[in-house]
Amino acid sequence: MTQSNSPRPNVSRPDLSRGRSYLAIPGPSVMPDRVLNAMHRAAPNIYAGDLTEMVAAMWPDLRAVAGTTQHVAAYIGNGHAGWEAANANLFSRGDLVLVLSTGRFGIGWAESARAMGVEVELMDFGTQAPVDMGRVEARLRQDREGRIKAVLTTHVDTSSSIRTDIPALRAAMDAARHPALLCVDCIASLGCDEYHMDAWGIDLTVAASQKGLMTPPGMCFVWFSEKAREAGAKSDLRTPYWDWRKRAEPEEFWQYWAGTAPTHHLFGLREALSMLHEEGMANVWARHEVLARTVWAAFDAWGAGHPRIGLNVADPIYRSRAVTAARLGAPDATRLREWTEREAGVTLGIGLGMALPSDPAWHGFLRVAHMGHVNAHMTLGALAVMEAGMIALNIPHGPGALDAAAKIIAAG
Ligand SMILES: *Cc1c(COP(=O)(O)O)cnc(C)c1O
Repeated sequence: MTQSNSPRPNVSRPDLSRGRSYLAIPGPSVMPDRVLNAMHRAAPNIYAGDLTEMVAAMWPDLRAVAGTTQHVAAYIGNGHAGWEAANANLFSRGDLVLVLSTGRFGIGWAESARAMGVEVELMDFGTQAPVDMGRVEARLRQDREGRIKAVLTTHVDTSSSIRTDIPALRAAMDAARHPALLCVDCIASLGCDEYHMDAWGIDLTVAASQKGLMTPPGMCFVWFSEKAREAGAKSDLRTPYWDWRKRAEPEEFWQYWAGTAPTHHLFGLREALSMLHEEGMANVWARHEVLARTVWAAFDAWGAGHPRIGLNVADPIYRSRAVTAARLGAPDATRLREWTEREAGVTLGIGLGMALPSDPAWHGFLRVAHMGHVNAHMTLGALAVMEAGMIALNIPHGPGALDAAAKIIAAG
């Protein structure tokens, strides 16, 4: 027998999706093996021992990741649960809040508050524009009686990938001399985009486990300032389960959770926080920045001379470092997503909130996540696979995207 000289074995098309798949959607994000391995263990005692000691030691790290030394309450729940926890502890029926929306998730928080009996004034900036701080300041100045109890916004709206300039929002509130609480949804951005809760004068931060925190979905966190604690002391929306008081200052271990702890999630989270700490938050943010710019560079090249292809957010200042929303023209975004998953093992994010799923235009949007446990080869690989898909599907695009992306990585 000799080796066959045919260029390859006789199969019409090999399955090139074999190997480790890559879920490049904006949450749940890639879980590090270290996190998964930490969770692979027998059920622990929930009354004493390893778990209880670990959690007590972990709480300062959980505060640090949000840049605060103030209070934190944790819940078994997803991001929606985090919104509800924040609302329940801060507000009473009939309180007025101002919600600044730059996409689907800002609207989601507004809907959650409204459904709980809070009066919501929604300032909707659409899906392509940043928050207009001048409008916010003017509205707050108008509110002479100080009826607006809080300003709620997303740091990154994951649907549009717009990033809100939180220090500029703080400055606008200060310029209006308005006492409202500043409350920020960091579910998509914590552990990806630079954020300093205390230094930036933020009163409340919400995040969940499954994005930058690299842990399976199922835990959410509400960090709150002393000012928020006092402002919410008389909330009439608070119910026993959502009450943050005992969770933030438990006398017994079960009170952290109002019941049984999310045992294995906690072992995973412990490992994830250690990984962030080892890397250092400044490095974590810088890594996300470079990976984001890699994706932007590829889209700029693909879109040159092909206006159907482009990034959703024009100005890089207002772009998320965790996720990039883009358009490809319908139905090519859906075709490409299906191709990359089926043929190459890369799952891209659907376009969210850019069109109704029933609208043919919906198939023109997608999102590329670069969130959490992601490195250069993963992002370059995803981009190269996207380019292969565009070639295979005859989607017209500009040249040089991979070269541009590689140059960003090379420059660091
Ligand atoms: C993911 C996300 C949510 C919702 O979180 P769930 O865990 O899906 O409930 C809310 N806000 C932002 C900014 C998000 O990225």
